[in-house]
Amino acid sequence: MKQSQLFTKTERFAPKDEETKNAQLLTRAGFIEKLMAGVYNYLPLGLLTLRKIEQVVREEMNRIGGQEILMPMLHPKENWEKTQGWNNIDVLFKIKSRTEKEYALGQSEEEVVTPLVMRRARNEKNLPLAVYQIHWKFRDELRAKSGLLRGKEFFMKDMYSFHADQADFDKFYEIAKTAYLKIFKRLGLVAKVTEASGGSFSQKISYEFMVLTDAGEDDILYCDKCVFCVNREIAPSTSSGRAKENETCPKCKQGKLNRAKASEVGNVFDLGQKYGKDFDLGFTARDGTKKFPIMGCYGIGISRLMGVIVEKIHDDKGIVWPEAITPFKIHLLSLGQNERAEKIYDNLIKNNIEVLYDDRNISAGEKFADADLIGLPYRLVVSEKSLKAGGVELKRRSESKSKVIKEKDIIKNLK
Ligand SMILES: [Zn+2]
Repeated sequence: MKQSQLFTKTERFAPKDEETKNAQLLTRAGFIEKLMAGVYNYLPLGLLTLRKIEQVVREEMNRIGGQEILMPMLHPKENWEKTQGWNNIDVLFKIKSRTEKEYALGQSEEEVVTPLVMRRARNEKNLPLAVYQIHWKFRDELRAKSGLLRGKEFFMKDMYSFHADQADFDKFYEIAKTAYLKIFKRLGLVAKVTEASGGSFSQKISYEFMVLTDAGEDDILYCDKCVFCVNREIAPSTSSGRAKENETCPKCKQGKLNRAKASEVGNVFDLGQKYGKDFDLGFTARDGTKKFPIMGCYGIGISRLMGVIVEKIHDDKGIVWPEAITPFKIHLLSLGQNERAEKIYDNLIKNNIEVLYDDRNISAGEKFADADLIGLPYRLVVSEKSLKAGGVELKRRSESKSKVIKEKDIIKNLK
């Protein structure tokens, strides 16, 4: 893509009402724009990034047998009344039409997916099943102030699994947990797994995947030696309730417990038999009796991840995108050498290397500042100086030193 044709521009200053780094940097760099509190437009660079994150998640869900579907965002009130959600979930968005009929906007999809799947899984031999979607979700959020970390409308992957018994669910949970950790690793994040209460979804213990970040709204304790991690908010209600900051880890008895701010990027809920029972939709077991499925719900916040990654990986000049999800791999800058740069641009495209080409007629200083702000992993500069030195200047966004490489070696260096 040529930057002269990109309809968005970078901004020198962040909007005054944005308090978090992710909202400030993503807005300044032209990835997102706020429509209202907790609701954002995704501009070309932002949408490319969102699609990259989505694709990593999709690949790992497909790998563990998830089947992708797309369910409506607009739900009938009746389904939410069946599960008691209509009156009990305070963040549920409710809509009244001109005919006085009421609807909910999806904040989770058990109310839709349970009848959808169980009408087709009438026999034990049809189970287990796992379906997922990547779609918009809504929450009637009162404090939507953290950019992409806490939205009224957000993009999410939600998977639902259906099992004949608890043992089969437990087995699948472990597989899903491993897939989740793999996803976060691919995205360049280290996630910690905490035990939490199920909140409005279920009374059972759930698991949250947390990334340490100062902008996070969760307060966690984690061991510096083992995997022990707990959300302080709910610590008294779990088996590890006595855990305190700076104390010895109750699990490994060796490490020390550290306290940190974290942001939840994924979760898994053991829903038990609640939803099958609510809809009175069961299956015929091998012994001929009617049983209700054990269900699991698995969420990953796609748009939230974009915000968390910016919170985690930036410097005073701008964003530093990990290669796995960057909108483009290369930022090609021409400093008065558009003819040479154009040839390099064409060659990169021919070699399937994603490139943003700054062909604009502006100063070198502005181009460098924009490249740092947007944060693509590699910068290639074609200038009179670089040509005199024998080629083009290559620099990683995460490093300060650059090197001059020959034009013919560009592809080799990038691959
Ligand atoms: Zn420990």
